[in-house]
Amino acid sequence: MNMLSLEDVATEIRRCHRCDLANYRTCVVPGEGPADAEVMFIGEAPGREEDLSGRPFVGAAGKILDGWIRELGLTRDKVFITSVIKCRPPNNRKPTREEVLACSPYLDMQIQVIDPEVIFLLGSVALGYAVDRFNLPVERSVRMNSIAGSVFVVNDFVLGRTTLVPFYHPAYLIYNRRKTDEVNNLLNKLRVLI
Ligand code: URA
Repeated sequence: MNMLSLEDVATEIRRCHRCDLANYRTCVVPGEGPADAEVMFIGEAPGREEDLSGRPFVGAAGKILDGWIRELGLTRDKVFITSVIKCRPPNNRKPTREEVLACSPYLDMQIQVIDPEVIFLLGSVALGYAVDRFNLPVERSVRMNSIAGSVFVVNDFVLGRTTLVPFYHPAYLIYNRRKTDEVNNLLNKLRVLI
């Protein structure tokens, strides 16, 4: 079988016009990190800084994510960082279900190429993607408070075996600083997994 490379996937994503978000973007944000990354972080969608630079998680939420990566004993250059949606929604609105459906084949391909050991699902949009794609036994309406840091081992026929970890979206912490200790405790427990 002819295996795609991450660059092939990124080229496809840059050409994409599967939904209207393509009309608003400055840059597409396919994601970044090595193809042999063992840990992957999946956010929601690019924000303003990401749209301008074409790089994932480089704004305020990215600073928080960088701290979490360090807390886990990892470095940014060793992990793969992306989002479910690769183009910025206008005014950072939540992506629609149609946009998620249009964009998620690209995320499927990235997971297939990277074949990560652990995938952090940052926020409800990433969790919703995984509920659909991996048949996670979780209600779509579940509150992140009650599930963050849980560990689900899944085995998908196409995407292979991996461990999914629902987690807070870093942007949530910007407005909920009182959660910082709880998040650090969860990260310390997850460090063992990694
Ligand atoms: N939030 C996301 O979900 N992804 C980014 O790349 C930046 C902010």
